[in-house]
Amino acid sequence: MKNNAVVVGAGIAGLAMARSLAEKGFRVTVLERNHHAVGASVRNFGMVWPVGQPGGELYTAAKRSADIWGDFCREAKIYYDASGSLHVAYQQDEMDVLQELFTHYAGSRDVKLLNAEEVLNCSPAAKPDGLMGGFWSGDELIVDPRQAIATLPSWLEEKYGVKFLWNRAVVDVKKRAVVTGNETIEADLIILCSGVEFETLYPGIFAQSPITKCKLQMLRLESQPGGWRMGPALCGGLSLTHYHSFKVASSLDKLKQRISAQMPAYVKWGIHVMASQNGLNEITIGDSHEYGGTHDPFDQVEINQLIIDYLNGFARFPDMRVRQTWNGVYAKLTNGDPFLFHEAERGVYLFNGLGGAGMTLSFGIAEKLVNGL
Ligand SMILES: Cc1cc2nc3c(=O)[nH]c(=O)nc-3n(C[C@H](O)[C@H](O)[C@H](O)COP(=O)(O)OP(=O)(O)OC[C@H]3O[C@@H](n4cnc5c(N)ncnc54)[C@H](O)[C@@H]3O)c2cc1C
Repeated sequence: MKNNAVVVGAGIAGLAMARSLAEKGFRVTVLERNHHAVGASVRNFGMVWPVGQPGGELYTAAKRSADIWGDFCREAKIYYDASGSLHVAYQQDEMDVLQELFTHYAGSRDVKLLNAEEVLNCSPAAKPDGLMGGFWSGDELIVDPRQAIATLPSWLEEKYGVKFLWNRAVVDVKKRAVVTGNETIEADLIILCSGVEFETLYPGIFAQSPITKCKLQMLRLESQPGGWRMGPALCGGLSLTHYHSFKVASSLDKLKQRISAQMPAYVKWGIHVMASQNGLNEITIGDSHEYGGTHDPFDQVEINQLIIDYLNGFARFPDMRVRQTWNGVYAKLTNGDPFLFHEAERGVYLFNGLGGAGMTLSFGIAEKLVNGL
């Protein structure tokens, strides 16, 4: 007879755990407090982003996730784009970092260092004025998070028999059971993937964990006319300061010093600027990073303007009109660890704190963790 597993939370962390547990032979039930997921997992760029992960386990997990995302999107017949990513340089210090990244990763990853002309051939979205070159990586793929997170549950139901109970807030976890408002569901294994609402269950453990919350502001441009496509997801020089995998470049410090001196507002709000495109030809743009336990629920116009101003320095789109803005909040560890996986009590695990890489890492990490249980 199959063992029962309960997963709490239908964001990407919970959905990835549900998939891996079902693959491992568990009979899985997912409980989600809302009628459908509305957290960080539907508010992101949809960037599945191995280029941002350092070599070793995290890069391997990101690549594995990308494979699973590709399989899922093909089987479910939903949008994904495997055009990769492009970081562009308009200053010599940015170009120096790209050159170093290429030297470091050329032997082990699918990357190319491009001159200005090659960048323009690769991306109609890159601005030609002052363009010096770019760093292309072929590992990245873009999904539409709103479509993908809405479709994953039915795919998991059909493919693996995973059962979803929506509108069920889990208010307590007992030994081998979760409690909702009016029912108790028994399970051999329980995995809590509650995202930023981590205070509700096992608050004592989270209070002692190095975990915080980060608010990000995002924008979306109109659907681009005539089926216009941007090609690879596009990132400006500020993004070079953002990802762990770029720390291998010794010239990064010089770039960071210039940015601190010339762009204090960008440093203050943790802004770096990237753009991705969905299947409706809309362009998603972001983002800022504000850390803390409680966030202003409202967006700041100043932050959105800074993002647009910086975007205008390196990208051009046929229709630049903003059609939507929003914010999202994710849980992130403050000690540099990429995620939290903790046995709260026998048979009950917490999986959380994936920070800005939940879409990139969840599938690969969940598979590894479940195999190790
Ligand atoms: C603006 C933004 C942009 C980002 N861009 C990217 C990107 O491009 N690429 C990338 O890899 N990552 C990105 N991220 C990070 C990624 O979105 C997160 O790491 C990931 O979504 C976290 O997933 P999660 O399942 O832990 O949390 P969530 O998506 O928040 O899901 C948690 C779920 O648990 C449910 N829940 C909580 N408590 C209970 C309870 N007691 N009972 C029942 N249900 C409960 C909640 O309702 C929620 O649906 C971005 C994040 C943001 C905010």
